Amino acid sequence: MKYQFSNARLLLNAGDKRALAEDVGGEVVFAGRSNAGKSSVINKLCMRKNLAKSSKTPGCTRTIKFYELAHARRLVDLPGYGFARQAHNRRQKWNLLIDDYFRDRNSLRCLFLIVDIRRQLMEMDWQLVEWKTRMASLPLHIILNKADLVGAGKARTILKKLAAELADHKDISLQLFSAVSGLGADQARHVLAHHLERTA
Ligand code: GDP
Repeated sequence: MKYQFSNARLLLNAGDKRALAEDVGGEVVFAGRSNAGKSSVINKLCMRKNLAKSSKTPGCTRTIKFYELAHARRLVDLPGYGFARQAHNRRQKWNLLIDDYFRDRNSLRCLFLIVDIRRQLMEMDWQLVEWKTRMASLPLHIILNKADLVGAGKARTILKKLAAELADHKDISLQLFSAVSGLGADQARHVLAHHLERTA
């Protein structure tokens, strides 16, 4: 593998569009409902305990974090979404920052969507899938996290069912993952590396 994932470092923490990382090279963005395990997945992929930290107060991290994996190669950590308690103006702010990020992001190569396998895809996740299909050239890779909590047989069944549901969508791939056992980590690193190397 070309990338030394354990060398990932926090490059910057952007609270608004002026602070986004320079749009050069290649990057893969991570999104997911709060508590799906996005921080744990990023930590597992980078073989680190605390590179990505999820906020103790769900839904309170309103920044986009950029991790540099190698020169001009980044992982991007979006704020988690989907907490009903969140005030409307907070949600709007989430949308604005995310919109700003996705607008004309030349270096963006792939969207990693982290979901809790027990909940599968929820409304916001489906919205992202729908939205993605309109962004013709952006591949989507779905990480069914917490596979350790459902058992191997059930995990495979869910994977198959979802793959069938998504069969009509182009450029969508999916896999099982566990941030606890490490299941799927190598596979996910390969997918990441592949996209980071892809030219636009
Ligand atoms: P985030 O809000 O999406 O960043 O989620 P976190 O990474 O903070 O994880 C939310 C909770 O799920 C934490 O208690 C984690 O320890 C737990 N968790 C995350 N991934 C896994 C996993 O693969 N298996 C299990 N059993 N628990 C997980």
